Amino acid sequence: MRRTYEVIVVGCGGIGSAAAYWLARRAGADVLAIEQFALGHDRGSSQDHSRIIRRSYHNPDYIALAEPVYDLWSEVEEESGTTLVVKTGGLDLEAIGTTGIKDLGHCAAAMATHGIPYEELSAAEIMYRWPQFQLPDATRGLYQADSGLVDAAKANAVHVALARLHGATIRDRLPVRALRPNGDGVDVVTDDGVFSAGHVVLAGGAWTNTLLGSLGLHWPLTVTQEQVTYFATPHLREFAPDRFPIWIWRAREEFYGFPIYSEVATKAGQDVGGAEVTAETRTFEPDAPTRDRLVRFLERHIPRFLGPELYTKTCLYTMPPDRHFVIDAAPGFPNITVTADAGHAFKFATLFGRILSQLALDGRTEYPIGPFTANRPAITDPAFPPIFRNEAVLSA
Ligand SMILES: Cc1cc2nc3c(=O)[nH]c(=O)nc-3n(C[C@H](O)[C@H](O)[C@H](O)COP(=O)(O)OP(=O)(O)OC[C@H]3O[C@@H](n4cnc5c(N)ncnc54)[C@H](O)[C@@H]3O)c2cc1C
Repeated sequence: MRRTYEVIVVGCGGIGSAAAYWLARRAGADVLAIEQFALGHDRGSSQDHSRIIRRSYHNPDYIALAEPVYDLWSEVEEESGTTLVVKTGGLDLEAIGTTGIKDLGHCAAAMATHGIPYEELSAAEIMYRWPQFQLPDATRGLYQADSGLVDAAKANAVHVALARLHGATIRDRLPVRALRPNGDGVDVVTDDGVFSAGHVVLAGGAWTNTLLGSLGLHWPLTVTQEQVTYFATPHLREFAPDRFPIWIWRAREEFYGFPIYSEVATKAGQDVGGAEVTAETRTFEPDAPTRDRLVRFLERHIPRFLGPELYTKTCLYTMPPDRHFVIDAAPGFPNITVTADAGHAFKFATLFGRILSQLALDGRTEYPIGPFTANRPAITDPAFPPIFRNEAVLSA
């Protein structure tokens, strides 16, 4: 069995499978990707029917990443013949007076700076166009037509299949136990022996610190157990993807939702609505208070979105204290590139894969990842205060 590769990817979730694909396009059989569980497992962050994709970010750093990512998803769709992105349009909704990064003024300013078209809408205008909503007058919205969803589970499977097509080896059900620098490269220690590579990409999601620990490193990553609920609404036509947009409600509590897609049901969740856990202590049990908060919100604002609960699915966020991504070399280990997804990276998964392939094969990338270094205070300063705590959840 082959033991030495140019690049080894650890983790085949959303980001690792994308990295395997983009690496294999250039390095073919010199790529090995290793996943600890069965491919397509749902113990991590990436296995569901839909994830929001959008250009409407409050922060220009993300808008700059959103620009290339739509083209890259199209390239993957073209190569696979599989539709992965469904544009539904997107509504950001703000309870007027919400401050900080949830203030839609930041979103509008960032989109205007980048020349991204958007519409500013009052509550009445929103309800005229989408009578599914019942909004208080003190609501305002931004509509951006390119928003929509990425079919996450399909995207992962497509990245893996195309990585294999280009010659990569994918090994699942094989936990990596440690990473050990070996001079010019890195040894990857598994239950099936040691594999070596010139470069390792660690895309380990909620398990990242376990392998960083084998290098004597630790990053301040908080893992939370999140959940989304599918509602079997009887109002199918009103919530079809051509009639109903993805939406994000920005207020003290933040909720988001999707039109009917894949299941015959709508889907919604609360952002950072769940408890802090670890990859080992998390459960797969839905949290009733979180679901109740969501149902109360939907009863008030999108009542016909609701129907019998089809199911609630749990999932993990892995967040640095500033909730920004990390895409950088592990400090002191230039041959090991590590990602942290900050709980909002799926839309960028294929771009992250391409960036990781460039960092591994060229030592640099053409994309603007400057803000996502591992030497920023949020990662290096243990006193850096987390910004993602959901006050409403904590005080509930
Ligand atoms: C409820 C929910 C809603 C979300 N909504 C959105 C959204 O609307 N839009 C958006 O853009 N993002 C969203 N996200 C975030 C997005 O899903 C994640 O950012 C993304 O899936 C992270 O992918 P990942 O590859 O980093 O992690 P994962 O998919 O968890 O992959 C990590 C993989 O590494 C493997 N691994 C770890 N350690 C080892 C080891 N030692 N050996 C071998 N394998 C290992 C794991 O088993 C796992 O398969 C959401 C997340 C959740 C939970």
